Amino acid sequence: MRRGRFAPTPSGPMHIGNAFTALLAWLQMRQASGTFVLRIEDIDGPRSRPEYAQLIVEDLTWMGLDWDEGPAADGPYGPYLQSLRLELYEQAVDRLQRSGRLYPCYCSRAELAAIASAPHGLASEGAVYPGLCKALGEEERRRKAQAKPPSLRVAVPERPFSFKDGLAGMQHVPPGALGDFVVKRADGQFSYQLAVVVDDAAMGITDVLRGGDLLDSTPRQLVLYEMLGAVPPSFCHVPLLCGPEGGRLSKRDRSLSLAALRAAGVPPERLIGHLAYAAGLLDRPEPAKAAELIPLFSLERLSGERIALSEEALALG
Ligand code: GLU
Repeated sequence: MRRGRFAPTPSGPMHIGNAFTALLAWLQMRQASGTFVLRIEDIDGPRSRPEYAQLIVEDLTWMGLDWDEGPAADGPYGPYLQSLRLELYEQAVDRLQRSGRLYPCYCSRAELAAIASAPHGLASEGAVYPGLCKALGEEERRRKAQAKPPSLRVAVPERPFSFKDGLAGMQHVPPGALGDFVVKRADGQFSYQLAVVVDDAAMGITDVLRGGDLLDSTPRQLVLYEMLGAVPPSFCHVPLLCGPEGGRLSKRDRSLSLAALRAAGVPPERLIGHLAYAAGLLDRPEPAKAAELIPLFSLERLSGERIALSEEALALG
């Protein structure tokens, strides 16, 4: 049985871009008669807030999307809040450490920023870590550890990686492009890359459908799957919604939060109609219920990196 998920970070109100991804991930599982999981990725301390998680639950419900496992729908793989799963992340870090995959890094943010003029790695991931702390000897590590707790980085093998994305096609990553990335920060917080892999593996997720901004994160996640001996899911990165000119959604457009649409009295069917039209599931942006789209779902008409929203869709609120 296929298992998909929507895994939002509750760091702000949900906007139409998130709604687009949620709708497609939900449709994919509903059409496949699979299980749909809602997981709240709230480990990013001060950025994540419980009131936003609550708002996400309300927004999804308003859209007509439901979940088989998640908040208020406990299941065999719970809890479904990352902040309640820290022990699992710790175990994974221990495992990686015991198998010699990690090393402590004492570089400060300022030091890293100063060398960030070095060639950049994959777009969404910032500069590639230049490996400064990789070769430190035991003595040097002990000395540095007295001044500052380290973050833990994965020593990524210097080889090419490739994988096939269900929408973006074959992806090739040259050796060295990933860099040694952090799995646990110096302040003890686990990284998104680690937590998402541990959870998708532990929750038996078979299909990851998410926004194209995370395509670049995928090879790093695949490295972790391999090191943890877990089977990776299939990945589908859907295009990001953008303004009519192809540019990023502006501040005004981004204020198209679902909460604002709801408050303005926009019926959910109107939003769903526009999202379905943007995804090529409808020929016209006519009102539709999410459930009516289940038989129409297909990824075939989704392509490219961005989908321009019409002025009409942007004027919804
Ligand atoms: N929590 C991530 C976000 O909201 C998404 C994680 C994922 O889908 O892999 O950007």
